Amino acid sequence: MSLHEDFLSHLAQTSPYPIALDVIGAEGCHIFTRDGKRYLDLVAGLAVNNTGHRHPKVIAAIKDQCDRYLHVIPYGEFMQEPQTRYAAELASLLPPTLDNVYFVNSGTEAIEASLKLAKRVTGRTQLIGCRKSYHGATHGSLSLTDNTAKRYRNLPLLPDTDHITFNDPDDLERISEHTAAVVVEPIQGDAGVRVPEHTWLRALRQRCNDTGALLVFDEVQTGFGRTGKPFAFQHSGIVPDILVLGKALGGGLPMGAFVSSRARMDLLTRDPVLGHITTFGGHPLPCVAGLAALEVLLEEGLVNNAARMGTLFKQLLVHPRIKEVRGEGLMLAVDLGDADLVQQVVLGCLERGVLGFWFLSCPTAFRIAPPLVISEEQVREACAVILEVLGN
Ligand code: PMP
Repeated sequence: MSLHEDFLSHLAQTSPYPIALDVIGAEGCHIFTRDGKRYLDLVAGLAVNNTGHRHPKVIAAIKDQCDRYLHVIPYGEFMQEPQTRYAAELASLLPPTLDNVYFVNSGTEAIEASLKLAKRVTGRTQLIGCRKSYHGATHGSLSLTDNTAKRYRNLPLLPDTDHITFNDPDDLERISEHTAAVVVEPIQGDAGVRVPEHTWLRALRQRCNDTGALLVFDEVQTGFGRTGKPFAFQHSGIVPDILVLGKALGGGLPMGAFVSSRARMDLLTRDPVLGHITTFGGHPLPCVAGLAALEVLLEEGLVNNAARMGTLFKQLLVHPRIKEVRGEGLMLAVDLGDADLVQQVVLGCLERGVLGFWFLSCPTAFRIAPPLVISEEQVREACAVILEVLGN
């Protein structure tokens, strides 16, 4: 059987129409396929490869750790240097109330654990998400995700959940003394990149303070410089009670984390002990890869590059068929107002060697989320192809 036949027969599929690029390599902002083609990557593995594919420092850190040890024990028992150093480095970049890091394996697992933590801290059960949100594919995350198509086959989901709408001050009244957590993407990703007003976010923070609900920011997609700040909560100047991380956190390897204060996290260590556990969370490889990637991010000024290149995309992507280019930094949605046109443009770009991608919940727009190392020349090349496909 050919690789393509095996792929379709034996690998569980997520859709009836996978792109099925046969990848043999990747470097920087490029992906290479067996048929000899090179693709300029505007997706970054869905906001994962912030430092580009196979950054030499990240690869060196992974190889070095391979020569020491891989998995040795489920999370939390041994003092493993990669976990500890990475947690300390993250804490040094975050406000003092976010000084304690729990590493897990994915974004959705980190969301699940943050919900458990919020219930423990508050002794309450109600969980609130936002309209149009996406938080992952497991049951708890799906309960807060507002995507009817993804939810309805899995009902019933968690009880005692509710949803509020971005920028609606009246909806903040739904947060009450019964609310354990309000989970928010500080910039919504799969909704087609929706940026809330800072005034609303500040009012949300105040409402959580007034009612004692914990504010959880899902920065799985926005973290690590993608939006032109190290973390997106820094745009509005408000600090969440729990910060959820994933995607770029592992430097290209699978990883998630939830971050809060030491006092809150300690609740998971007692009554019962092992209040949250994971076999592979904090595995040494994603920890060293993530730490190396974070160092690259800071040393190479990638956060500023994200801001500058995002502005350049917005300047260049001007066309009568482009209704709007939304977003911050290199987390952008190009809205064409027409789902068929989006299909044509994404596939047309693919034919011309530029990889863009769809959104889960916004069919009228396509996504631009390249590695943060993208150069001005590459941005110009990408935009020229997009504009050519749209028709000059
Ligand atoms: N939160 C957000 C904002 C996301 O974008 C995603 C993934 N697209 C998740 C959570 C879930 O992360 P994972 O796929 O690693 O479970």
